[in-house]
Amino acid sequence: MKNIESIPGELRCCILLSDIHKSGEQYKTAAELALSEAVDYWGQSYVPEEPVRVNITANYARSDIAVRVELSCGFRVPCSRCLEETRLAINGDMRYLFTMRRLPRAEEERAGGEEDGYIDAIEMEKFQAELDLSPYIWETLILNLPERVLCREECKGLCPICGCSKNARECGCMTDETDPRLGALKNFLW
Ligand SMILES: [Zn+2]
Ligand SMILES: [Zn+2]
Repeated sequence: MKNIESIPGELRCCILLSDIHKSGEQYKTAAELALSEAVDYWGQSYVPEEPVRVNITANYARSDIAVRVELSCGFRVPCSRCLEETRLAINGDMRYLFTMRRLPRAEEERAGGEEDGYIDAIEMEKFQAELDLSPYIWETLILNLPERVLCREECKGLCPICGCSKNARECGCMTDETDPRLGALKNFLW
């Protein structure tokens, strides 16, 4: 399983800055990147079902490059209530700003007051030849993985007594619907 701390090598995607420059105002590229391992996140395993389809759009202006990362892919993951394997479609859309300008450090910002709106920009070297977008593709993917996935909105989950899926059948187990923590309170009120 793939931990989110390390970017999978399969997601490697670099664009040449010369290609962006050559393209004039807008540069577009697309890629299909197949993950070879499940992604381990939120304490569960997201098994890739298809390659991650990535569309990159880059707009270049003076010393800044605005990059949009759009992606879609499909995973299989257990339903949070009944554990049945469920298909999950992911769509991500994130924007990043790369700049060759030197950004003020935190202490300079405090001294100099508010910045010109590029606080979240990612600094890059003036003479670097390519832009490695792998970490940003990975981030766009991870940030769109939901913590809870349901096989259907009205999933009834598992019976706490016999463990069967209540979606399939009514097992007839006697379950006390009262929360035990409320039992004492009920006696007190009545
Ligand atoms: Zn379910
Ligand atoms: Zn049961």
